[in-house]
Amino acid sequence: MTIDILTIFPEMFDSVLNTSILGRAREQGLITIEATDIRPYSASKHKNTDDYPFGGGAGMLMMAQPIADCMRAMCEKRGVPCLSNLEPHGEAPVKRIYLSPRGVPLTQKLAQELSKEQHLILLCGHYEGVDQRALDKYIDLEISIGDYVLTGGELGAMVLADCVARLIPGVLGSEESPQDESFSDAGLLEYPQYTRPRTFEGMDVPEVLLNGDHAKIAAWRREQAIIATAQRRPDMLEKAGLTEKEKRLAEEARSSG
Ligand code: SAM
Repeated sequence: MTIDILTIFPEMFDSVLNTSILGRAREQGLITIEATDIRPYSASKHKNTDDYPFGGGAGMLMMAQPIADCMRAMCEKRGVPCLSNLEPHGEAPVKRIYLSPRGVPLTQKLAQELSKEQHLILLCGHYEGVDQRALDKYIDLEISIGDYVLTGGELGAMVLADCVARLIPGVLGSEESPQDESFSDAGLLEYPQYTRPRTFEGMDVPEVLLNGDHAKIAAWRREQAIIATAQRRPDMLEKAGLTEKEKRLAEEARSSG
């Protein structure tokens, strides 16, 4: 998979893209992630990328022209057609995403869907946002990383790139890692986890995790996942496919938590 990030602050991505799991995945060629500066594509003499909004109002808006030219150059570089949303077009080989508080919420399910795409282009807005015409013509999907407002789309693009990248086969050490964690197919939050030492500041690791009985460990973990979900995110339980016994456990956890 290739993820291209269009931004006026590409330097913000340096450490995120070169560190830990993302850095290793890029080094191993499992994923290509590149941040591209929009500014050189500005046709203005001083390479401006923003201007005052028509109709007045606070702040500046990113202009459509540098974004459109950067988007076209990116598609050309990757050898994919730069389709216009203003004309009918079929399945595109690239999904162009604008990070925006007005977008659809980013969820694990959406990340799973996006991890199957071949190529994502992420557009980061700044200031008060982006001229609507750039979005109308070159954006397929708007995604929000939460109900709050950031200064720019860069942090959102990092979040999106990170959670999509770790779902690509081979990126995490073990293929099983993303399967039974929070928001995975089981629809539950993750159970509590422990590592060495067995006793830490007077607190012991639950005995069941030490006895090597995999069936008992799995049953304990499911129970704990139900309890955690019932106490922290009861809204998730409806779709979790609980048995009657598990529903009672969830109810008890909810009223005691
Ligand atoms: N005026 C815009 C509004 O009220 O919806 C907010 C603009 S915000 C200050 C600047 C940029 O940050 C946006 O263009 C977008 O790219 C990014 N951004 C802000 N909050 C975001 C969020 N919750 N999710 C994704 N991107 C966000």
